[in-house]
Amino acid sequence: MHLDLLFDFLRFPSVSTDPARKGAVASCADWLRSRLAEIGLDAAIHPTEGHPVVLARNEHRPGRRTVLIYGHYDVQPEDPVAEWTSKPFEPELRNGVIYARGATDNKGQILAHILGVAETLKAKGELPVNLIFLIEGEEEIGSTHLEAFLAEHKSELQCDVIAVSDTGMVAPGVPTFTYGLRGIAALELRVAGPKTDLHSGIYGGAVMNPATALARLLATLHTADGQVAIPGFYEKVRPLEAWERESWSKLPCDDEMILSVTGAPALFGEAGYTSLERLWGRPTAEVNGIGGGFQGVGTKTVLPREAFAKLTFRLVPDQTPDEVLDGVSAHLRAASPAAVGLEIQRGHGGEPYITDPHSEFGKAAQRALVRAFPGKDVALIREGGSIPIINTFKRVLGVDTLLLGLALPDCAAHGPNENFPVANFEAGILLNQTLLEELARTA
Ligand SMILES: [Zn+2]
Repeated sequence: MHLDLLFDFLRFPSVSTDPARKGAVASCADWLRSRLAEIGLDAAIHPTEGHPVVLARNEHRPGRRTVLIYGHYDVQPEDPVAEWTSKPFEPELRNGVIYARGATDNKGQILAHILGVAETLKAKGELPVNLIFLIEGEEEIGSTHLEAFLAEHKSELQCDVIAVSDTGMVAPGVPTFTYGLRGIAALELRVAGPKTDLHSGIYGGAVMNPATALARLLATLHTADGQVAIPGFYEKVRPLEAWERESWSKLPCDDEMILSVTGAPALFGEAGYTSLERLWGRPTAEVNGIGGGFQGVGTKTVLPREAFAKLTFRLVPDQTPDEVLDGVSAHLRAASPAAVGLEIQRGHGGEPYITDPHSEFGKAAQRALVRAFPGKDVALIREGGSIPIINTFKRVLGVDTLLLGLALPDCAAHGPNENFPVANFEAGILLNQTLLEELARTA
C-alpha cells in the first residue's frame, strides 16, 4: 500500500528544469495535493511564476507547537538514460531497494513524512502539533520562486521549527542529525593577454602567456600543505568545538571509505585536521574549471589571447560570501602579473548554516531518531554541501531547520540508478510520527 503510493509518485517525470515536462510537473503537484487532502489535511496548490507550491495543514490550535515540514516533488533529469538498469520513471523493487529517479531525492523522503501523518491521523484522529507541509517544485533548479513565496505567505507559514528530510545518513542504519551546512561563494576570473591568439614562435618570450599567468595566480590560492593562502580568509572561521571533533572521530566513516568512494590515489587537505573536519568544519577554495588555448588533437604553437578559471569557495560559520569574495578579489588583483589584464566576475553565494543540536528542538529531534532507529546512537554531523533554502527559511521566517536525512551514501541521487531502500522509507514513516510527538513535548 505504502509502496504502491510511492511508485505512483515516482512515475511522474517531474523534471523541473525541462520545459517539455512542465505538464508532468503540474500533474505531480495535483496528485500530491489530492493525497494530502485524502488523509484529511487542508491542501492547496499555489501557482508561482515557475512551478507550483503545494501547501497543506491540519487545523491549528493555540498552545501547541507549529511544525513546518519542507520537501520537494521535482526531480533531476534522468540522463544518461542508457546507464540505468531499469527505466528511471518506471520504479522497480530489487532486493528490498526501490530504483527510480526521485526515489531518495526527494519523493521517497517527503512521502514518508506524509504517510507518517496519515498513520497518526488514522490511529489517533489528530496530530500532536499544528502542522504545515510546504512542498515545492523548483528545488532542483535553485528554488527560484520560493523566497518570494515565503515572504508573500509569511503569516500563514509562521512556525516554531522546520523539519526537512533531504540530507544523508552517515552509514546504513545510523540515524543522522545534520546540524550544519557549508555555504558557497562563486567567482570567475579571466586573464587577458594580446588582442588575438599569437604565433608562439614569433611572439613567445616577449609577450606574457595568459595561461601561464593564470596557473601562477591559481597556485597562490593555497600553501603546499593545503591551507588557503588568501589573506584574512580564516579570520571569521568559527573553530571546531571539542565535542564535535570528539564525536566525529567515532563515526563509522573513515579515510578508507572516502578513498574507496572517490577512487583518489590518496587523500589531501588542510594540515592539522581529519578528513571529516576538512569536509564539514573547514572552508575551502576550489578550482572547478580551467581553460584557454588550444584543446584539440595534435600540436598548435599558439600563445593564447586569454585563459579563464571558475572558482568556488565552501564557507563555514561565520564567513559570508560577500566578505570572502572581497578578500579573494583583492588577493587576485594584488597577485596578478602586470603584463596581463584581469577580469573578475562574481557568481552566486549562499551563507553557511549551523544550529545547536543540543537546543530544545535539537534534543527532541535526537529522541525522535533514537525511537525510529532503536538501539542506535545518533550521529551528529555537518555536511560539506549547501542547501540555500535553509538560510532563506531562517532569514524570512526566522526559524531553525532540523535536517533529518534518510539518504544513504550510495543512493545515486542525481545520477543513474537512483535508489532508496524500503527499510529507509519505512523508517521515515516512523520517524515522522516520533518527531511530531517529541516536538509536541517541547511545548
Ligand atoms: Zn536533489
